[in-house]
Order: sequence, then C-alpha cells, then structure tokens
Amino acid sequence: MTEALQLLKKYWNHDNFRGLQSEIIESVLAQKDTFAQLPTGGGKSICYQIPALAQEGLTLVISPLVSLIKDQIENLQQKGIKAIGITGGISSDEVSNLLDNCQYGNYKLLYLSPERLQSDWILDRLKNLPIHLIAVDEAHCISQWGNDFRPAYLKITNLKEHFPKTPILALTASATPRVKLDILRILKIEDAAIFEKSFDRDNIAYMVFDVEDKLYRMVQILQKNPQPSIVYVRNRKSCIEISRQLQQSGISATYYHGGLSSSEKNKNMTLWTSEKTQVIVATNAFGMGIDKGNVKTVIHIQLPDSMESYYQEAGRCGRNGQKAFAVLLNSPSDYRHAEGQFLAVLPDKAFLTKVYKKLNSYFKIGYGEGINESFIFNLNEFCAQYELPVLKTYNSIQFLDRQGIVTHSQEFSEKITVQFLIPSKEVLRYMSLNPHQEETIVTILRTYPGIYEVPATLNLSLIGKKAQTTQVQISGILEQLQKKEIISYRAVGNDSTIIFNEVREDERTINRVSKFLVIQNDLKTKQLESVLNYVSTKDVCKSKLILAYFGEEKKENCGICSYCIALKKQPAKEISVTKQIISALEQNPLDSRSLEKITQQPSNQVIFALQELLEYNVVEILPNNQYRLKN
Ligand SMILES: [Zn+2]
Repeated sequence: MTEALQLLKKYWNHDNFRGLQSEIIESVLAQKDTFAQLPTGGGKSICYQIPALAQEGLTLVISPLVSLIKDQIENLQQKGIKAIGITGGISSDEVSNLLDNCQYGNYKLLYLSPERLQSDWILDRLKNLPIHLIAVDEAHCISQWGNDFRPAYLKITNLKEHFPKTPILALTASATPRVKLDILRILKIEDAAIFEKSFDRDNIAYMVFDVEDKLYRMVQILQKNPQPSIVYVRNRKSCIEISRQLQQSGISATYYHGGLSSSEKNKNMTLWTSEKTQVIVATNAFGMGIDKGNVKTVIHIQLPDSMESYYQEAGRCGRNGQKAFAVLLNSPSDYRHAEGQFLAVLPDKAFLTKVYKKLNSYFKIGYGEGINESFIFNLNEFCAQYELPVLKTYNSIQFLDRQGIVTHSQEFSEKITVQFLIPSKEVLRYMSLNPHQEETIVTILRTYPGIYEVPATLNLSLIGKKAQTTQVQISGILEQLQKKEIISYRAVGNDSTIIFNEVREDERTINRVSKFLVIQNDLKTKQLESVLNYVSTKDVCKSKLILAYFGEEKKENCGICSYCIALKKQPAKEISVTKQIISALEQNPLDSRSLEKITQQPSNQVIFALQELLEYNVVEILPNNQYRLKN
C-alpha cells in the first residue's frame, strides 16, 4: 500500500485515502473481484486509477457516458497519465488505430463505452491486450431495476468468460439491494469482496415542507443560512427565472444548466465556488465533479424523478461533516401534477416508432443506411416540423440513446433574445427602405408586442412559419438590424448532435428494444411512487425513509429531520391541551367552544384533542353536544 500512497501523493497530491478507498484498492491489487459502493464525491475513480498505475499493463474501464469518459481522460492527461477512450461515433479504422496505440504505446487506462463490446473483432483485440483489471463504472446501469438501466451494459455480461483471470471491479454510487444482487449475478462475480458505505448521512437534516409560497420559504431558509447553497429545479427556464427571483429578494444567485456554453458554465460555476454568490440554481446537469465541502443547504423546489437522484443531489450538502439541510419544498398541487408531469410524457411503442422514423426522414436517411452518420440537431425545430410534443419526443430520443441506437449529446437550448432600441416610427422608416425585410420584422413586432420595452425570446420556427421564410434568413435579418443598432440581439447556441449507431431498420429496430421500453416505463412509475411516498409519509423519520429505500435499517430516529423536529415540538402542546380539557371537564360537561375559551388554545387543536379523547373512550358526547368525562 505504500506504493499506492506514493502514487496518490505524486498524481493527486493527497496524503491519505478517504473512506473505503484504501480497502478497495487493496482488494483489487490482491486480484479479487470487488464490488464497491461509494456515494457521489466519494472518490470512486481513484479506486481503479491507482491500481492502474500500480500495476503493469492496462486497466479497462467500462463507462456509460461519453461526457464522463472525456472528462476523466482530460483529467488524467493533465496529470501526465496515458489514457485513451473509445466511444460511439468513432469509425472502425480509428478504433483499430487506437487499439494499436494501447498495445504499443504504454497506455495505462483504456475507457470503453459498453456498446463497443458488441463487436467481436474489438473483443478479440482486447483479449490480446495486457489487461490486468476491468473496472465497470456506474455498474447499476447493468440492472433493469437500476435508476439508469442501459441495455448496452448487458453486452458485458460475459466479460468473466472472456477474461477469466482478470479481476473485475464494479463501482456504483447508489444501488438498492436488488440492484446490487443483479450486478453481482450479471457480472458473474458473486464471490466478490464487498465494500459499501452506509447511505446514512447523519449530519444532513432532511426536510420536507408543504408550502404554498415556495419562493417565500426558500428566501427564508437561505437568509437564515447564508452559506453556499444549491437550488435544484427541473428545467432550464426555471433555472434562470428562480435565480432572478432570488436576486430580487436580496439573495445573490447564479445558475447552471446543460444548455449554457462552456464559458458561461465556467463563469457561473466560479461565481459560486468562489462564494461571490450564495446560491447556484441548477438542473440535474449540475453535479458531476463538484467538490465543494461547505454547501449548507440543497433545496429542491420540484419533485425529483427518483429517490436515487434525490439522494445524490441532496447529498451535495454537508460534505465537510457539519450540519447541513436537504430541503424539499412541495406544494399540494405538485402531487396532482406529478403523474401528468412524469408519466404522461413517457413514450409508448407506437410513439417511439414514430419518432424514430421521423428522425430518419428528418435527416434523409434511407432504410438500411445511416450507421455512424452524425448530424446537428435542434429538438424544437424537429418537434415543430412534425408537430410532436417536445418532452415526450425528448424522452423517446433519450431512450434511443440509452439503447445505443443513437447517441444524443445533450447541449440543446437555443435562445435568441431581441429588443428593439429605436422608436417605432424609425422602424417603419427602416422597413420602407428595406421592403424585403418588412414581412419578417412586422411578424416579430406582432408576435411580441412588448418587444420595445423588454427583450423577448424569439421562437424562430414560429416566426418562420408566419412570415413564410427560413430561420437562416431570419437570423440574417436580425444580424443586420443589430449592426444598424436597431435591435439588441443575443444568441446562445444550442444545437445538439445526433449520431446514428445502427442502420435504419424501422420496426425491426424498435421491436428489438420495445420490451425494455415497457420495463423502463414501469420502473419510472415505481420510482415516482417512491418519491411520492417519501414526500407524503408524515409519520416516519425522513432519514429512516431514505435508508429504508436503499435497504438499510436505522434503529433510532435521526432527531434533526422535519418529522423529528415536529415530533419534538408537538407532544408537549398536545399533552397540555388534553390535560387542560380533562381538568376542565372534571368540574362539569362543556361544549367545544367553552373548552376553547377555557384552554385558550386554537380550535383545531381542541377539536383534535377531543377526537382523540373520544376515540380512547375518555370522554363521551352528550345530546346537547357537551363533552363529559366517562367513568
Ligand atoms: Zn428524523
């Protein structure tokens, strides 16, 4: 282990391993199959990167996310560690070259997306490489009961047969007991050494509040705890909106979502990490690689889609071990909307087939064609062209991505914001001089009547339709208007890319994966139920509820969650109301109004106490509605 420590010092400049890291590394270096469950931020990757450096030969890392692979390779290269990645969208020739490099170039880590293992020739080439460790990252993706099931992971089920002597390290941040068993079974590592950190975070106070005015409550909480905080929202629009509302309420805030350019992301991140703003309002795109120990509060103002993601996001507070708050603000209507919001947007087979076919015709891909072709993609335009609902279409494309049929990079969110800067009279004059632009300009002015006062976000496809022109032409006109200082114009690029990983086979393609669609929809329904259960269960410690979800039993109540706090406050009051009522009724029977006057307690509490006394047969109610003590 001294060598491992030296490597840690040399490349990461840390003096000690954290948590279970050293035990896991020891197990791997002893050539044992190993299962490791470490929470996000627990330093999972160190567990295979150190053994990769400590041993001769190559470590194969299977990882599901291209962005994650890219990130890691960049990090390793910055440290001077030789690492290479083979993901989707790379031609066979390139893959072959990369594998040659691995063989002769003294590389230490080879990252591979699971789809790549379905090609026999790649597998054969891998068998000829000096692979000494196989790390399966995000191993929960292998289980259909996992939060993020990716059928491509099923392609790695026979790794053990192909590499019988190579130890396998399965890593995950959150696996329920069922998922854990699945991982061990599917990877055929039932005898693996198991390392898991408890899900218990006893310094986090989990709070669920039913509130009508979320902003008001949020501001209250953030003012009371003026330390670094994260507010999670569900979409990009709320990201910007909530951040603005917080600023207006005197709380410094910035925002982060997947559609920002990388310079904007960096800028906003730095504002928050350097504590120039207290709050970062973010979508779930925010999280990877955040290592900020002193986050005091994580607030969710919308229901999360699963307990797994809630646990991970909430867990970003209190990493330094000090008391922290994970708050979920819920309004009564959230329950009612939850099904519509989450379940109504899940595609069925017919819809998925439709989207897949339209996607192919959109890019003019013929039957039997399309493999390895990549395209710039704008989801909103696509949906507008075929009149498809955006969220459901998005979910369909995500599903195709999970299945490995396409690879969809997630950076979409074009925003063109325009405001007119000169008086309308001047605009009319400009139009008369430039008649070919008139139709477009008039359409914009009609569609966005307030555009002289405040910037409007333009819907280019809508304007294009109304003015019977193309988006390119609109952009051209806008640029000219900006040059002449007639408008202020701001465009944030948003185009995502789609790579087709398979040839187009319409029904055959979809039939092959449709059973997974059923499973996935079923899982999503169950996950939503678990979230609703967490929110609506009022009589159990929140910390206990979370641990129970992950299969752990907690004996004692946590003492700091919203349930435990309420429990501490309540009984004293109730006992005293009840006692007051009993002592009053000892004199003579009374009705509830008189009891309110005597006890000076709010009527709902008096009535509640009376109901309990009735239930326990301590009092009885007389025909004149007075209460009398029973003997
Ligand atoms: Zn509790």
